[in-house]
Amino acid sequence: MRAAVVTPDHSVEIQDKTLRELKYGEALLSMEYCGVCHTDLHVKNGDFGEVPGIILGHEGIGIVKQIGPGVTSLKPGERASVAWFYKGCGHCEYCNSGNETLCRDVQNAGFSVDGGMAEECIVVADYAVKVPENLDPAAASSITCAGVTTYKAVKVSKIKPGQWIAIYGLGGLGNLALQYAKNVFNAKVVAIDVNDAQLEFAQSVGADLVINPLKEDAAKIMQEKIGGAHASVVTAVARSAFNSAVDCVRAGGRIVAVGLPPESMDLNIPRLVLDGIQVVGSLVGTREDLKEAFQFAAEGKVVPKVSKRPLNDINTIFEEMKNGKITGRMVIDLSL
Ligand SMILES: [Zn+2]
Ligand SMILES: [Zn+2]
Repeated sequence: MRAAVVTPDHSVEIQDKTLRELKYGEALLSMEYCGVCHTDLHVKNGDFGEVPGIILGHEGIGIVKQIGPGVTSLKPGERASVAWFYKGCGHCEYCNSGNETLCRDVQNAGFSVDGGMAEECIVVADYAVKVPENLDPAAASSITCAGVTTYKAVKVSKIKPGQWIAIYGLGGLGNLALQYAKNVFNAKVVAIDVNDAQLEFAQSVGADLVINPLKEDAAKIMQEKIGGAHASVVTAVARSAFNSAVDCVRAGGRIVAVGLPPESMDLNIPRLVLDGIQVVGSLVGTREDLKEAFQFAAEGKVVPKVSKRPLNDINTIFEEMKNGKITGRMVIDLSL
């Protein structure tokens, strides 16, 4: 079967691979779609450690072709996902307290184990979240990573109906965060992005207020117009966005970090203490989070913007990604 494999020189090659036999508890998926994520670019470049030979892909959707011994949670013919959170140890304090993505022995698809950017993929059945029947599988691939990551971030923000949430960065992650915040959590949304086209799109999917920080001081406007946001979610990767996200919240506000710039952010201690603000990081989502994120997408509350591409396009897609030419999500269609 064809697979997108990381090469020692940090490129990706479409290779013909044969997968091993299924072990206890595993299932084989015949892959339909796999989204291409910024994380894949980092993996390919060796930014998280060198992984030559690994099959990329953690936004995979496929149909169960075969189940190994002991599998009770999946049946052949069912549709399931291949997510970045591929498997936890199952017995540590994080795995047993609803924080399984923090497991210290976590395995990640398309990084520490072979992922879903291939015609077939082996999953651990109990960890492969099923996709609702009425959810389009190409859209589901985006929910598997971008969707669940932003759904979880909004959940972590503890925003309540009618409250204001500021979303920094309206790209692939941010526009889904906006839709979850608006259509699932019934929040009022401020969209902040340096790109006017992204802001226009944000407005078309329901942003209540849009701000371009290159033209205006986003935090100042929010403090003046709405008395400060109740929470902010940062999907942007600019340090300035993180600092503004702290400045834009009202007393008692929460700042949720999702983007991963390599720098530190400024955090004024009196502001932290006297205003009782909270700063928290949010990493992808658990299996339960993904199940919920899928369900809301199946109900049409969140609609990812996807473009289907053939597997052979993978290096071109990375080139486009590097040059910031991508809007929405590029999804490998394994039938092309
Ligand atoms: Zn991803
Ligand atoms: Zn664990």
